[in-house]
Amino acid sequence: MKILIKNGHVVDPSQSLDTTADVLVENGHVKEIAPHINVKCERVFDAKGLAVIPGLVDMHTHLREPGYEAKEDIVSGTQAAAHGGVTTVACMPNTKPVIDSSILVSGVKARAEQHGFAHVEVIGAITKNSEGKELSEMGDMAARGAVAFSDDGHHVSSARVFLLAAQYAKALNKPLISHAIDEELNTQGFMHEGIVSTRLGIPGVPSVAEDMAVARDCLVAQYTGAHVHIAHVSTQGAVDLIRHFKKQGVHVTAEAAVHHLTLTDEACSGFNTAAKISPPLRSMEHVRALRQGVLDGTIDIIVTDHSPHASEEKDVEFRYAPNGFPGLETSLGVLLTDLYHTGQMDLSTLINKMSCEPARLFGLPGGTLRPGAVADIAIVDLAREWTVDSNRFYTRGKFTPFEGKKCKGQVVATLLAGKFVMENGEIQCN
Ligand SMILES: [Zn+2]
Repeated sequence: MKILIKNGHVVDPSQSLDTTADVLVENGHVKEIAPHINVKCERVFDAKGLAVIPGLVDMHTHLREPGYEAKEDIVSGTQAAAHGGVTTVACMPNTKPVIDSSILVSGVKARAEQHGFAHVEVIGAITKNSEGKELSEMGDMAARGAVAFSDDGHHVSSARVFLLAAQYAKALNKPLISHAIDEELNTQGFMHEGIVSTRLGIPGVPSVAEDMAVARDCLVAQYTGAHVHIAHVSTQGAVDLIRHFKKQGVHVTAEAAVHHLTLTDEACSGFNTAAKISPPLRSMEHVRALRQGVLDGTIDIIVTDHSPHASEEKDVEFRYAPNGFPGLETSLGVLLTDLYHTGQMDLSTLINKMSCEPARLFGLPGGTLRPGAVADIAIVDLAREWTVDSNRFYTRGKFTPFEGKKCKGQVVATLLAGKFVMENGEIQCN
C-alpha cells in the first residue's frame, strides 16, 4: 500500500524540517520526503495549505481499562487519540485492578494491538495497588514492555519506598514518573489555594505542596542516578527546582499539561467541576512560569493528562467531584489557539514537545517522519476555526473546562502506521 501526501507544509523538528514537500508512505512506513515525488500510489492526499507533522505522542493518558469502562476504554480512548492527532498514548496504571503485574501489562498491550486506534504503551505501577508501601513487579513488567513506572494519582509518600524504587528503576533503565504533590496537603484541598479559592470558600492546595514533593524526588534522582520524570508540573517553584537540578546534571525531566499552560484557577469559578483536577489549575504567575519553562527547556514535553469520568460522577458538588477531564481531542487545537496563534510559541517548538521529545525521552518509535520510521502522521489545518463541543468527542468523558472555546487549528487527518484512522473528524473503521 502506497500513500502520497502532496504539497504539505512538513514540520518535523526531529530532523529540523520545516518546508513544503511530498511525503511518500509505503507499507506503513515513511519512504521518502522530497519536493516533488511522482510515484503511482493507491491514495494521493492533497495537503496543500495544511501542516504535515509526526503524530502526537502523549505520555500521560488514562484509558481507564481494565475496571473503569464507564469512564473510558481502550477503544474509546484511542479513538479520541486519533481524533486529536495523537498516534501514541502511554496509559497510566491507576485502573482496577491497578496495573502492577506483568500479566496486566501484557493484557492491555494485547487488547490495544487488536482493537486500538493508536499505539498504546503501558506505564506500570511503582508500588503494589499503588498503595505506596511495597514495590510492584517492576522487573517483570519491564520485561513485558512497560515503558516507565508511576503511582500517578498519588505521590509515593514514603521516601524509603521511593528511593528503593529509584534504585530498581535505574537498574532496569526505566524512568519513574512522579505525581509530585504532598499527599496530606493535597487531600485537604480541592483547588489551588489563592484568591479564587478564598472567594469560593473552597479549601485550597498550596503550591508549596507540589514544590516540596518535587524537591524530594529530584534529590532522590540526584542520589541514585535514576531518571525521575516529574508529571504535570504546575507551579513556579517546581519549575525553578527542576531548572536548578537539571543544571547540576541530575537526570530529571518534566512535563506540563495543556490545561496548566492555558487555564487559571478562574476556570473553577461558579464551582465548575469540569475544571477540577490534580494538581489544580493555578494562578497566572504559575502559568507564565510554566510557559517560560517550556521555552527554556526546563519542561521537556507537553502532555494531555487525559482523565475522563462518567458525566454523573462530575455532576456533583465541587469537593466531591473526581479530579480530571479529557484532553486528547482538544490538546493541539487549544495550544495552537493560545500559544501559536498568539505568537508565544512557534510551531516547531509545540510539535517537538508534543511528539518528537516524548518519543525520544522514553525510547519509543514514532515522533519522527524520518525515512524508515513508522508512518504515524497528523495532518493539520492551522487556520480552521472550530468550537469545542464535547458532544462531538469520541471519549466517554464529556466534561471539559474548554467547552465552548473557540479554537483555531484542527487536525483533519491522522495516519497510524500508514493507515488513515481519522479523516475530517470521523474515525475510519476498516
Ligand atoms: Zn497525575
